[in-house]
Amino acid sequence: MSRLAIVAPMTGWCAPLDEIPDPVFAQRMLGDGVAIDPTEGALYAPCDGEVIAIAPTRHAVTLRAQNGAELVLHVGVDTVALAGEGFTAHTGSGAHVRAGELLLEFDLDVLAGRARSLLTPIIVTNGERFELAAMRVGYRIERGEVLFELIPRTTHTEPVRNVVVGTHSGTVGTAEAVITVTHGHGVHARPAALIASFAKRAGAEITLRAHGRSADARSAVSLMSLGVRKNDVVQATVRGERAAQVLRELQALITGLVDDPRPTAPVSTATPPREQRGDKLQGVIASRGLAAGRAARLHAATIEVEEAGRGVAFESAELERARTAVRTRLEQLSRTASGPAQAVMAAHLEFLDDCELTAAARGAIASGKSAGFAWRSSVRASVETLRSLGDAHLVERVDDLLDLESQVLLTLRGDAPVAQCELPEHSMLIAEDLKPSQFVALDASKLAGVCLAAGGPTSHVAILAAAVGVPMVVAFGPSLLDVQEGEWVVLDADHGTLKIAPDAHARAAVEQTLAAREQRRRDERAAAHRDARTADGTRIEVFSNLGAAVEAQLAVAQGAEGCGLLRTEFLFLDRERAPSEEEQLQVYQTIADALGARPLILRTLDIGGDKPLAYLSLPPEPNPALGLRGVRTSLWRPDLLRTQLRAALRVRAAGELRLLLPMITDVAEVRAVRRMLEEAAREVGSAGAVQLGAMIETPASALLAERIAREVDFFSIGTNDLTQYTLAMDRGHQELAHRIDALHPAVLQLIATAVAGAEKHQRLVAVCGGLASDPAATALLIGLGVRELSVVPMLVPHIKSVVRSLTLASSRELAAQALELENAEAVRALVNRHVTVESETAS
Ligand code: PEP
Ligand code: MG
Repeated sequence: MSRLAIVAPMTGWCAPLDEIPDPVFAQRMLGDGVAIDPTEGALYAPCDGEVIAIAPTRHAVTLRAQNGAELVLHVGVDTVALAGEGFTAHTGSGAHVRAGELLLEFDLDVLAGRARSLLTPIIVTNGERFELAAMRVGYRIERGEVLFELIPRTTHTEPVRNVVVGTHSGTVGTAEAVITVTHGHGVHARPAALIASFAKRAGAEITLRAHGRSADARSAVSLMSLGVRKNDVVQATVRGERAAQVLRELQALITGLVDDPRPTAPVSTATPPREQRGDKLQGVIASRGLAAGRAARLHAATIEVEEAGRGVAFESAELERARTAVRTRLEQLSRTASGPAQAVMAAHLEFLDDCELTAAARGAIASGKSAGFAWRSSVRASVETLRSLGDAHLVERVDDLLDLESQVLLTLRGDAPVAQCELPEHSMLIAEDLKPSQFVALDASKLAGVCLAAGGPTSHVAILAAAVGVPMVVAFGPSLLDVQEGEWVVLDADHGTLKIAPDAHARAAVEQTLAAREQRRRDERAAAHRDARTADGTRIEVFSNLGAAVEAQLAVAQGAEGCGLLRTEFLFLDRERAPSEEEQLQVYQTIADALGARPLILRTLDIGGDKPLAYLSLPPEPNPALGLRGVRTSLWRPDLLRTQLRAALRVRAAGELRLLLPMITDVAEVRAVRRMLEEAAREVGSAGAVQLGAMIETPASALLAERIAREVDFFSIGTNDLTQYTLAMDRGHQELAHRIDALHPAVLQLIATAVAGAEKHQRLVAVCGGLASDPAATALLIGLGVRELSVVPMLVPHIKSVVRSLTLASSRELAAQALELENAEAVRALVNRHVTVESETAS
């Protein structure tokens, strides 16, 4: 490929990049090039090409030349702070421009007075592919004169292909695709962090564009700033080796995003119905529960920072020191945290190292600001962008950014990153707002509940509170802050209310309710290790669902009689390649050891649909939930299944190991897996037959249950998917969430059909879907003929106690009535009445 001349995009004085008072440019962090000190207020295209992005503040343009070279033209230094003032754009993202075409105009007077420098860098960001030749500095250049030349490097002999669709198999080049984001809340913090961490590992440049903005995918903050919401379309461009492959993985990642674990609160971002009835405030539920306590006020401390720095080297080192200290602390916390808390720490770590945030802070330091001032202004600029997007979920991520801001500022000041707050016993925390790091630093054992004047129900702090069972209500409004320190309050986080200064009678009633709940929990825990039988003697096994080895011990401690569903796919997620046979064996063996003599039902890989695997490269599917999922994926990639079967067969368990097949639709799938199982058993020299079960989670399998039952040893009903496929409602659909109820009579009818088919061949029927963990459904399931319930570990004691409160006869009657009803609401009303009557009869 021949040389490409890059012409001066403006008239002015040519200078080396070293003269720019911003290390990002001077130290060539973005790439090599030259700077021009302009003498006219206009920027023109330096070559033919496509405008990849134009900053929302119109001070910078990124251009891709036809030979693939990418150029950043950045007018002045610190001009982002002008927020577009004085700039006029004459082009837009995606425009094809010719050399010499006007891109931007800017007011030299405004810039001269407000910008740190007018020096305008012209930088080649993919310099690994191009040599910059004939570059001169220290002279005056006229717009249109040759500034330098680009010569493709010989190590990159293959030309960069411009716009290759996602399925292209080229190894070096550019791949582009349009991706629809179907994730519940769009690209908010967690998806942004996941994409950024993928982009950093991918070894390719990834740019995402939406709403006329563009983001370097390595920056979570910049990804969030795109303001991408559910059903928005983003344009992804991947440049580098394996571009097409990386693009496919990115597509799989984005289309496979699943919703955050949310607190049980309704996701309401509308202004809460805030009313004050006498001494009662109304807020929005963030974490359910009931609590009484004394108000403990948490006052937000303001952290002052000096604006002027003490030299670039000193302030840069200070910022690094503070970031390193905060990073170390977050990493430590994340190692000891689990579940949602770990996800929150991971998001904070991602923000802390966000390339845009840190580059902006370094830029401010280079312009003479202190580390604290620089970090704060960089964070606040991102906060403003997020706020301006008007998306409630993104606005909630502002809390996370501000949290990090104060952690770094406190560390810079020499304080602990999080101010410790000593709580007296039974504290009801009252605050304007609460940061996740502050919540983590509180002693949860002394915390009765949390009440916030501001905040959102899906904020990270709400997720953290729900994870540790602390009741929390947010958005009470400013009147909350009138509550006096030490005053008694009652928080009913099941209804979102706060009663201030309750009389002795009301407090006693709460104490009584809490004591009764606690006593019930103690009784249930005491009886958790006994068998569960209905009052008239029918044995119901209560197992536990597991996703990881660490949960096995917890389940056993809660009284689980076995593992009814090991979701092995968790072992396959968040990694570069599938786990080896040895790795799988080790995990399965650890779980089997923890279970001792109890059975372990290991479900084969249930991947695809809402659980994609980037390294599997599933073909793009218009509707993944109806595509390669569950056992279909395993039969499509028999190598994966074979490895998993071999690992499972090599487990030496004191209890029985059974295998369970997900998403079965007919007997052919069962037969195909059985053949592979027999082959694997021969290979690993495993003696003795392993029980094989089918998950009933498609209407097809329920309707063909009798035929499938001939071929398998047991059924386990996956009510989550069975409901989704029966009602034709996506199980993750936010708008339909209230209608996706497994108690719908159509789902119950299919369960009844599956049980009837199983009974013809004396096969046991279990339920391992979410309905098994719903105490309101226990009687109904037993009445329908289910004899094993596999539930979340913490619910084992309660479900056992519900079983003991029932009789088989009344449960059957209940099931017969439910099957006659018209809709899920009617069934819920029926079972709730039944639960009350049964428990009254039992007591
Ligand atoms: C189900 O569908 O009910 C089930 C248990 O499987 P999963 O939730 O893992 O899809
Ligand atoms: Mg399922």
